[in-house]
Amino acid sequence: MTTPNTAGDALQSDHIKLRLLQMMEEVEDYAILLLDQSGNIESWNKGAQRIKGYSAEEVIGKNFRIFYSAADCLMDTPGEILREAAAKGTINREGWRVKKDQSMFWGSVTMTAIHDEQGATIGFAKITRDLTQQRLAEKTIRQHAQQIERKNKELEQFVYIASHDLQEPLLNLTNFVELLQYEYGPLFDETAGMYFDVITQGASRMRNLIRCLLDYSRLGQQIELKEVDCQALLESIQSDLSVSIKNAQATIHVEPLPTLVGYETELNQLFQNLLSNALKFRKPGIAPQIQVRAERQATSWCFRISDNGIGIAPEFKEKIFLIFQRLHEREAYEGNGIGLAHCKKIVEMHGGDISVESEPGRGSTFLITLPFLSL
Ligand code: ADP
Repeated sequence: MTTPNTAGDALQSDHIKLRLLQMMEEVEDYAILLLDQSGNIESWNKGAQRIKGYSAEEVIGKNFRIFYSAADCLMDTPGEILREAAAKGTINREGWRVKKDQSMFWGSVTMTAIHDEQGATIGFAKITRDLTQQRLAEKTIRQHAQQIERKNKELEQFVYIASHDLQEPLLNLTNFVELLQYEYGPLFDETAGMYFDVITQGASRMRNLIRCLLDYSRLGQQIELKEVDCQALLESIQSDLSVSIKNAQATIHVEPLPTLVGYETELNQLFQNLLSNALKFRKPGIAPQIQVRAERQATSWCFRISDNGIGIAPEFKEKIFLIFQRLHEREAYEGNGIGLAHCKKIVEMHGGDISVESEPGRGSTFLITLPFLSL
C-alpha cells in the first residue's frame, strides 16, 4: 500500500481499511482472523464463528492454540506455524483442528505474517476453510476404489482357477470320445457318427472358450510401463496382418502417431484386435478402408480407428465390450467375442476409456483415450 501524502489521503486509506475489516467480518465461508505476534486472537468473523463454534466475545484475547489438539500442542505445531509464517511470509497447512464442542474438522489454513514499516512481524492474518466434507468424500472414494480392486483380484483369481480346473474333465471327455471312435467306430451307424462330431466340436469350442478366459484373467499380470512408439507398433501389426490385409484388399491409412508411456505388449494386442475386427467386419464386396489417427488432448491421447464396414446398431454399443458377446452367427463371422473385452481391459489398465461411434451399414469408429503416464 502506498504511504498517504496528505491528511485527506490518510483518512481515505483508514476508511478503506475499515471497510475491508467490515467485509472480512461478514464473510461466512472462511474463518478470517487476525492474531498478534504470539498468536493471540484480535479479530473474529462470521465464518470463524460458523466453522469453529465460538462467538467473538468467547474467543478474542485467547491464543489460537485452542484450535489444536493436545497432541499438536505437545509438539508445538501452532508455534512452528507462526515461526514458519514469520520466516516465509505466507504458509499453507492442512490438518484436523478442534471446534468449541471438541469435535474435529479438517481445516485448510493460510497464515500470512503482517510486518511493520521496519519489516518486524507484528501479527498474522489467518484464513481457514473447512474441508471436512471433501476430505471424508475423498476417503470414501479411496476406500471404494480399494474395495473394487480387491474384488477384481479375487474374481480374476476365481476365473483363473475355475478355467484351469475345467480343462481336466474336458480333456478326459475328448480323450474318451476319441478312444470310443477308434475302438468301437465300426459298430456305430451314420447318425451316431454325427453325434460324435457334435460332441467333438462342442468340446473343441469349450477348450477355446476356456483358453480365452485364461488369457483374459492373465492379462495385465506381468506388465511393465515403458515408452511405446505407436507408429512403429502399427507398422509391425500391419506386417503381422499382411495376409489378411491382402486377402481383403484393404487400404490402411495411419496418420503420424505419438510415442507414449504404456504397456507395450498390451497396446500391441489392443491395436491388433481393432485392426483385425475392422478387416473382419467388412461389407461384402467392398474393400475395407481403415484409418488410424491420434490427437493430443489436455491430459491424454485420443486415438480413432475408423472403418467402412458393417457398423454396429446403437443398442449394442456397450454390449460388444463384454466378454463372449457377439452380434453374429459364427458361420457369418468367426470369433469368440473376446477381442473387445480384452481391448477394454487393456485401455482401463492405462486409466483410459474405449467407446464406439457407429451406424449400421456406415462403418465404425473406435475411440480410445489413453491418459499421459510417466515412468
Ligand atoms: P469377435 O471379433 O471375436 O466376435 P470382439 O469382442 O472383437 O469379438 O467383438 C464383439 C462384436 O462386436 C463382434 O462380434 C461384432 O459383432 C462387433 N464388432 C467389433 N468390431 C467391429 C467393427 N469394426 N465393425 C462392426 N462390428 C464390430
